[in-house]
Amino acid sequence: MTNTVRMGVIGVGHLGYHHARNYAALDGVALAGVVDTNEGRAAKAAADFGAPGFGTVEELLAIGIDGASVVVPTVLHHGVTMALLSAGVDVLVEKPIAVDANQAREMVGAASAHGRLLQVGHIERFNGAVIALLDAVKQPRFIECHRLSPFPNRGQDVSVVLDVMIHDLEIVRALDSSEVVSVDAVGVPVFSASEDIANARVRFASGCVANLTASRVSVERMRKIRIFEPNAYVSTNYSEQEVLIYRKKLGKPEVGQTPMDLIDVQALPVHREEPLKLELASFVKSVRDRTRPVVAGEDGLAAVELAERIVRFIREHG
Ligand code: NAD
Repeated sequence: MTNTVRMGVIGVGHLGYHHARNYAALDGVALAGVVDTNEGRAAKAAADFGAPGFGTVEELLAIGIDGASVVVPTVLHHGVTMALLSAGVDVLVEKPIAVDANQAREMVGAASAHGRLLQVGHIERFNGAVIALLDAVKQPRFIECHRLSPFPNRGQDVSVVLDVMIHDLEIVRALDSSEVVSVDAVGVPVFSASEDIANARVRFASGCVANLTASRVSVERMRKIRIFEPNAYVSTNYSEQEVLIYRKKLGKPEVGQTPMDLIDVQALPVHREEPLKLELASFVKSVRDRTRPVVAGEDGLAAVELAERIVRFIREHG
């Protein structure tokens, strides 16, 4: 590999356009080309970022690339990723890694068999607030996640659990990787064929319990995660990139004080930079240095396995 890493983007729709924008701007990276079956989108991204635009992956492979982002609809992640891995290309596939755990396992197996890197686009792991949170929390006992947004204009090809809750499932797994001992969940379709709103309660072997709510039919937007530890409560607002930590001070309340007066609140320092830029820069670094991605295929697979278990519970008990 030369010093310049040659990256491609497959699918330059809503999100893929921004993958192309970031690769084009990163130091030491050349946006080698973009692919989209929609000719207009390929042409626009190509013109905006000064790279060739193609209609097929084969045309992109023919010009030679080191790595590529796969940002096509989720149902196509498996096919496009397998083609790239078998052609010797490192892949960053958007989240969720695939529509089911079987496909995800095949992708992880193919990356290993071909000696390629596979990263999954769990972008929240590059959100400064989540980085600060993961650093601060040592022994989570109860995790409460809310991720609510209005109904999107784009197609919903999978359940809200796989599309939206998956972000929090991956973070919860990063906070507690012990075995999942039980799942209880409920979900309802509102505008789609699959669940548009869902709530799950997940218990881990460590004793930690996570309560997750995800909705794509909410009037307001909310992205919060709150974590209770024996000696601290951490409250994170992802969208505001804000993390507050509440700790109990030593000692007893003085005369005229209530126990709440012993609570000390501190805002944790948060590094604010575009998470997608940090995610892609991290992938490029892994490609250059041949190091394990921050969110590897195995992590994406674990999140899908848990999502699948939640969806199965909802459908069996609905
Ligand atoms: P989109 O529909 O806006 O874009 C998908 C693009 O892929 C379209 O332009 C389409 O023409 C193109 N395409 C379809 N089939 C193709 C093929 N075979 N080859 C090349 N191009 C093809 O969708 P989107 O909202 O950008 O979502 C894409 C993926 O990104 C989904 O898996 C979604 O879950 C994920 N996503 C992740 C986040 C995040 O926060 N990490 C946010 C949004 C979307």
